[in-house]
Amino acid sequence: MALRNDLKKAATEDRNRTTSDGAGAYLVIPRAAVEALIFYLRRQDQFVERALRGADGLEMVATLLFDGQVSAGCPPSSAIHDVHICFGLDKGGLISSCKAVLTCANQLHPSSRGNSILYGLFPCEKDNRAAFACIAEVYVPDLDDLRTGGVDVSGSRRAVTLIKIGEYAFMTSWVGHEGASILMPCLWCTALRRRTQQNGLMVDKWGNMQNGSRARGVPRTRDHFDRMAVAYTDGNNRKRGSPMPLEENLSIESRPLLIIDPTHVSPMPLHLTLGITGSFLRLGIEAVYFNEGPERASAYAMNLSMTLRFGVGVTPKPYFGRALEGRQCQTIARRLSSVVELLASYVPAEEAAAYSAACHTWAEHLPVLTRTGDSSTEDVTAFQAGTARFVDGLCRAFPWFTVTHKLHVLCCHASKFLRRFGSLGRYSEQGLEVWDEEGGFGELLEAEFARLLALLQDQRLTWPEKSWTSSTTTVLPPPPPMLRRG
Ligand SMILES: [Zn+2]
Repeated sequence: MALRNDLKKAATEDRNRTTSDGAGAYLVIPRAAVEALIFYLRRQDQFVERALRGADGLEMVATLLFDGQVSAGCPPSSAIHDVHICFGLDKGGLISSCKAVLTCANQLHPSSRGNSILYGLFPCEKDNRAAFACIAEVYVPDLDDLRTGGVDVSGSRRAVTLIKIGEYAFMTSWVGHEGASILMPCLWCTALRRRTQQNGLMVDKWGNMQNGSRARGVPRTRDHFDRMAVAYTDGNNRKRGSPMPLEENLSIESRPLLIIDPTHVSPMPLHLTLGITGSFLRLGIEAVYFNEGPERASAYAMNLSMTLRFGVGVTPKPYFGRALEGRQCQTIARRLSSVVELLASYVPAEEAAAYSAACHTWAEHLPVLTRTGDSSTEDVTAFQAGTARFVDGLCRAFPWFTVTHKLHVLCCHASKFLRRFGSLGRYSEQGLEVWDEEGGFGELLEAEFARLLALLQDQRLTWPEKSWTSSTTTVLPPPPPMLRRG
């Protein structure tokens, strides 16, 4: 009875009070929840100060008190005492829902479930813009209030440095950008997807993702998002009498819902880990397909699945069935030598050598994506050089290789965020995934694994014409039935 009374009492406290507008449920006073979390962290002696770093890599010391600010979208000065609060949305779970989560980076383990705040929950059948705008109507005023008013930390007011986290489609939706499939797919810069016969002048001016670390995209700015918010007050670009050209809207096609400085958008370290690991394994299958044709590629794909299962020690189920902190990808990266050995028996030596070199570079730098502790200036420089070497090396070695938006973010933007904030892992979307009881990271990785095995049925595979050469390499027997997946 006493416990029941305590629970009832706790539910009525400001930090826990929730409401519903009929469509979703959310915290009434998120500031109270954030302040309670910080209070708890300080009481447990787990609160850690976080400082931004300057161009020289040195931490900038905060000396000024916060007394409010007029503009929510303008980040507070690095001289002002602040706390780093991450806001993100995630779609998933057993019941299709859109969860909003707040995490605080001023602690050692910001992504663990007990250290993060479930801000709200909306049913989410599809990602249409109208539904998303309704969700934003609930969250944005609260987030702006946090940024202009700050939070109380032990009796003194501190600024809130807001960092946006989450899966790419959700992060792009917040700024009126339609995601990875549009002409300028990057959320951080203007680089175009690739050079075509028609867009040469545009590529020269705005950059080209296929140039790897030398994409030369022009950084996006908060001012541009502000201008687009004004331009689309009455509707998106398609509804304008004279639609804005690409060079003016830079692929921002509708009103940004939350104005945030692009340097304060986390480069989605969890989804980089997941997506790049998957595409890297796929690249091996593509290499066999390119050199030896579909039958050999099919045999390689099956053998790769066995190697991953028995040589590396990862399996799609049940091992991947729960949310984990990128550990499976880390395991694959640590034991990539068995994958390299397998590929070497299928492709020419120079391609196997290039794949092997890329494997080593990926394995060396992958842990940086999940590290929640501080990286040194030397670590950041090595990460920047290593990720550039990784992507540029793959571009050189494999003529059909495409730099995806995730690879572009890895080699062009992740190190800039790391240099400024000192860590990628503590600004990770892992904090969102842990709220999915059955979904999240494990489910995503499993889907990636399934795509890998289904690759050869994928009609989208197209390569330059090539006559397949016969090979004397022995085709391994097909895998046992339990490895076959529909
Ligand atoms: Zn970019």
